[in-house]
Amino acid sequence: MLRPHPWKDAMRITDDRYHRERLRMELALRFLRHEARTQTIRAWTGLSDDRIRKLYRSYLDDAQSQPPRHRGKSPHQIAYFTRSLRLQEETLSLATALWLLGVLAGGATEAPGSLAALARGALLCDAFEFYQGVRPGAQISFEHAVFLVGALARGDLLRVGWCSACGGLMLVEPFSLRITRCPHCAATTRC
Ligand SMILES: [Zn+2]
Repeated sequence: MLRPHPWKDAMRITDDRYHRERLRMELALRFLRHEARTQTIRAWTGLSDDRIRKLYRSYLDDAQSQPPRHRGKSPHQIAYFTRSLRLQEETLSLATALWLLGVLAGGATEAPGSLAALARGALLCDAFEFYQGVRPGAQISFEHAVFLVGALARGDLLRVGWCSACGGLMLVEPFSLRITRCPHCAATTRC
């Protein structure tokens, strides 16, 4: 009978650990490029503050210019996304990308640094980069995008819904009882 080699199991575990470590560092670097806060990077990658600081220093050595680091409080007001018509439109672009890439599925409650959290984090970066690509002069920061992901995934402050007239994706208040129409349809029916 063929017995599996114990060292092969050990190699596989080492490979898995190495793979996950690499994913964590790669995601942390992507978050850093988007000017994420240390606490945000920690919450998604599970890396210690010390390792994030070291990564940031080595990133600076490679980068030509120093990206600004955000200090102080994280975004916490959902009203930010409806502050102006432009921000409403941008939020819809960002939410559409987040929804299409599956970033909002399943409540987003993975443990920091788990493979599920790392995968979702990478998709979040994809969605944010897509949004920046289609919205020249994009105003929504990465930190605000992270806040939006949490709110939409939980659905407690704002959720994804569908326009009752055109069927398009829109954002609605969670307990709204009104018939929901997107801003475009609402404007057309009023005329
Ligand atoms: Zn509509």
